[in-house]
Amino acid sequence: MSVINISGVKKSFSKNKYALKGIDLAIEQGDMVALIGPSGSGKSTLMRHISGLTLADKKTPSEISVFGIPIQQNGKLHKDIRSSRARIGNVFQQFNLISRLSVLTNVLIGGLSRVPTYRSLLGWFTDEEKQEALDALERVGLRDFALQRASQLSGGQQQRVAIARALMQKAEIILADEPIASLDPESSRQVMEILQGINEKDGITVVVTLHQVDYAKKYCRRAVALRQGEIFFDGRINQLSSDQLTQLYGIQQLDQQ
Ligand code: ADP
Ligand code: MG
Repeated sequence: MSVINISGVKKSFSKNKYALKGIDLAIEQGDMVALIGPSGSGKSTLMRHISGLTLADKKTPSEISVFGIPIQQNGKLHKDIRSSRARIGNVFQQFNLISRLSVLTNVLIGGLSRVPTYRSLLGWFTDEEKQEALDALERVGLRDFALQRASQLSGGQQQRVAIARALMQKAEIILADEPIASLDPESSRQVMEILQGINEKDGITVVVTLHQVDYAKKYCRRAVALRQGEIFFDGRINQLSSDQLTQLYGIQQLDQQ
């Protein structure tokens, strides 16, 4: 069953310059998909469309749905996307956490979409919720950091807190946009292994953008490669040939593979 369905999505930010040139894509439940491609190819724009943070062009018929429920149609946000959004956990490269709050509170916030609005406004958390948040932190190896301020953590640790927050949210899909772009190799490995672990153990569908291919090859099954706003390759990542990689990234990048 596909959990994300995208059809006909075009996006231009300025006249005649298309960030996305007509994207059709279905993501299957439980898959771990790498969205790859050089900088500027449209990866982040596509991710933002799935969450409904960016709207497709109105003049072209298009639809994006999650679990069969539309997020946007023909460039208009569907009227009730609250429940769909609650099923999607976002992990971004930056601006992930509320830096002055504790790690624990940042994780607890992930669960707010599951409680009644009046309580989320008051910011109450039950003991059960606190325990659940501590368990989520345990999963990402940061149980001992619960009471530190988020800003005191390293970049890699902050990404792991963002993943714990998505677990607290009971997200069924995680969209991670360049989660390792600014991390050292050891932190990158930890973040990718955690994403892989929750994909395998919890069956959470993971879509992760990576601007280089090596981590995608190591941790993901399927690759969708974007080039200049178009799908250039879609298939098993080990079937991406070196010729295709050269076309995708140019010769310099290939030398680094
Ligand atoms: P990637 O994530 O693959 O690096 P992006 O999705 O960020 O690529 O960008 C794709 C194209 O869309 C680029 O040409 C970028 O400059 C343009 N773009 C993205 N967001 C905006 C925006 N908010 N305003 C104008 N242009 C944008
Ligand atoms: Mg990007």
